[in-house]
Amino acid sequence: MPFSAFPNVKATMVISCMDPRANPNEFWAFSETSPVQPAVLRNAGGRVTEDTLRSIRVLSGIMGNGKNTVGAVAVVHHADCGLRNFSDERVGELLGERAGLDEGKKGEVGGMWFGSFSGDATLEKSVREDMEKIKADPYLPRDLEVIGYTYDGTTGKTTEVGVL
Ligand SMILES: [Zn+2]
Repeated sequence: MPFSAFPNVKATMVISCMDPRANPNEFWAFSETSPVQPAVLRNAGGRVTEDTLRSIRVLSGIMGNGKNTVGAVAVVHHADCGLRNFSDERVGELLGERAGLDEGKKGEVGGMWFGSFSGDATLEKSVREDMEKIKADPYLPRDLEVIGYTYDGTTGKTTEVGVL
């Protein structure tokens, strides 16, 4: 499989999906000799959640005694992501059933955000949404660069969506 060259050496943190097919260490071929060895955060969908922001805040502030230790953050969403097949409502229903919640309570689970992509969202659109969440966080350095990418596992290529 062809690998994309890691496109931005300033990116010291990468957010990607937990799907084994969307592993930045593989598609960008990070190694001990790479120009950077970024912190890689992975979750369902590679979505920017409150916990993702917490980790960026810690790395970009606390770890550097208040100085920005993160030059840039890369957000990667991948084609064929399993979360594209489920709505948040459907995930909530399934979890509500598992927990044995009665009909009235399932709505509480259904109201949670599981990071599903809305049906009409393109990969580029969801990447931009998550980039904007990072950029809007008041606890992150103003000069933190946020770079968005899509990843296509069938070609092994990443494509830059934009930079904020
Ligand atoms: Zn995925």
